[in-house]
Amino acid sequence: MDILYRHAAIADGQRDHLLLDQSILVVDETIEWMGHDDEAEEPGSDVRVVDAGGATVVPGMVDAHSHSVLPGGSHWIARIDDSTEELLRVAEENGEIAHRAGTRWFRDVGSPPRDGKALALRVRDEWAGRRDRPYIRAAGTWISKAGVLPSTIDVEAADADELVAAVEEQASHGTDLIKLYLDGPDREVSPWTADEVARAVTAADAHGLKVTAHATVLPGAQAAVRGGVDCIEHGSHLDAELAAEMAERGTFVVPTLGVLDSWESFGATTNIERFAGHDGKVAIAARKELAYESMRLAADAGVRIAAGTDFGGGSLRANQMAWEVECLVDAGLTPFQALAAATWVGGDLLREPNAGRLVVGGPAEFFMVHGNPLEDPSALWRVWKTA
Ligand SMILES: [Zn+2]
Repeated sequence: MDILYRHAAIADGQRDHLLLDQSILVVDETIEWMGHDDEAEEPGSDVRVVDAGGATVVPGMVDAHSHSVLPGGSHWIARIDDSTEELLRVAEENGEIAHRAGTRWFRDVGSPPRDGKALALRVRDEWAGRRDRPYIRAAGTWISKAGVLPSTIDVEAADADELVAAVEEQASHGTDLIKLYLDGPDREVSPWTADEVARAVTAADAHGLKVTAHATVLPGAQAAVRGGVDCIEHGSHLDAELAAEMAERGTFVVPTLGVLDSWESFGATTNIERFAGHDGKVAIAARKELAYESMRLAADAGVRIAAGTDFGGGSLRANQMAWEVECLVDAGLTPFQALAAATWVGGDLLREPNAGRLVVGGPAEFFMVHGNPLEDPSALWRVWKTA
């Protein structure tokens, strides 16, 4: 049925102020018309009118760092070994709760291989065309230097030839992007040189795929950026020089700051030593300070920042994008910049022109909250409904 939403405010992430007294006409799940209430045509009897008075329309969010088939929580790493059947159940729950919380896109940056292929690829294909699930764009499995991650969850390469072969293999599975793991067995040294990363980027490019790099330490981030990756995941240690280089090259970063905040929360909700013990708390505080400082440097340099929860591959849950937006504001982004990061900047990262945007002629993918997310990111928790 066609729907006319009336009397709404709009926070579209494109401008720094709310539009008031707005109407949106949705026909066949497409935005047919948007504008001031006074200019809306009188709806026919076949149009359902929804009084959205007091609510704010926000474009569907892009979770730019997610792990669709994994649950998160304080045992997030152990859960990667759960049965395929259980992980597929978890994916359905993730899709349902994320969708209800306003997330319409998962940029999936790693899932464990099951039956020879990354499991998220199967979920992506099953959800394609479903209106009640986020769209998935998936990286396949993590590609790492041998000896860094447990070998049941990743694809391992011992040298640059094997690295290129691993890229080719993931591309042959139909992935949408390639994920490299740029933390090495020795955290002071990048596992791959910039030239080796560049070989992987060239191999992916031949298949039309972008490469992104997990990098929590500076040497890996430097090699990744100089090797020409599209995006740095986490970027928990950047310096001003690298931030300037990223801005110049157009390299994105997805900071996932909420992970560190959630670890802090586990200090109260668990007895796990690395969260609740004194040394653990000190270590988390230090990592958090460095990560937040790195994002301030990135923002000041003009690096494109997209928001992602790291749900599943980290400890957040699939419906907690609002938490990450709050963390970005804590790190120094304006609420306007943080809302852009959670919506259309993630769309740009995916090269999906309608993702995270309200566009006449585009899909009606938005949700409604109470409050003004351009001044207060916590408004994003107060979801009324999704379109
Ligand atoms: Zn992750």
